Amino acid sequence: MGLFIMRKEKTDENELLQIGIMGGTFDPIHYGHLVAAEAVRDKFNLQKVIFVPAGNPPHKKEKNLSNKMHRYLMTLLATASNTFFEVSTNETDKQGYTYTVDTIKQFHQQFNGKAKFYFITGADALNEILTWKDVDCLFKICEFVAATRPGFKHEQLLDNIQYLTKKYDGKIHFVEIPSLAISSTDIRLKVANDISVKYLLPEVVETYIYKNGLYSNQLNS
Ligand code: ATP
Ligand code: MG
Repeated sequence: MGLFIMRKEKTDENELLQIGIMGGTFDPIHYGHLVAAEAVRDKFNLQKVIFVPAGNPPHKKEKNLSNKMHRYLMTLLATASNTFFEVSTNETDKQGYTYTVDTIKQFHQQFNGKAKFYFITGADALNEILTWKDVDCLFKICEFVAATRPGFKHEQLLDNIQYLTKKYDGKIHFVEIPSLAISSTDIRLKVANDISVKYLLPEVVETYIYKNGLYSNQLNS
């Protein structure tokens, strides 16, 4: 009888797929999100960036989020022309509150441990990270890429990166991206007030918004 030596397969760090995760409510998705994702993909040589429209994030519970089907479809439309971009239903498929840490764990399972994940956030989102569920664990299962965002000071972002890196022994990369002072809040308010949103977001998303009457009754952010 032949002798079989069972060897536990160990994946070399270099063999791992490098995948960016772009989380957001995308209500609606705009060029700020797309430019950030593409700049990070290019800089880190990522094989793909997966956009994850938030399901029911606890930090936005007081806000009147649009239906998740609309947010998912707008994200799909906006990313369709980029072969490196994908959209995941990991969060929109779930009932109840959704947390980034659970979503990243789910991705590790879906990729059978063969991928390394870079969670992409704007400067504002990184400021809020301490309020997220299980931050300790999150820093162990992904690296972060913190992108500059107009209105948020570079020094503050760098201080925050230094503080979080030390506190959680995690990895946060800093990237300066082309500055686009665009926000979904501003787009929603503009649509509600009949102000043009042309060139702030892909035309196909703009058309989708008007076709479905989104944001027309928006009273505030
Ligand atoms: P809202 O105004 O509803 O909060 P938003 O424009 O901030 O919308 P989100 O869906 O909240 O968009 O953001 C998703 C992610 O994209 C966050 O990490 C956020 O920091 C980042 N982001 C959004 N807009 C920009 C931008 N213009 N430049 C860089 N990063 C951005
Ligand atoms: Mg936001």
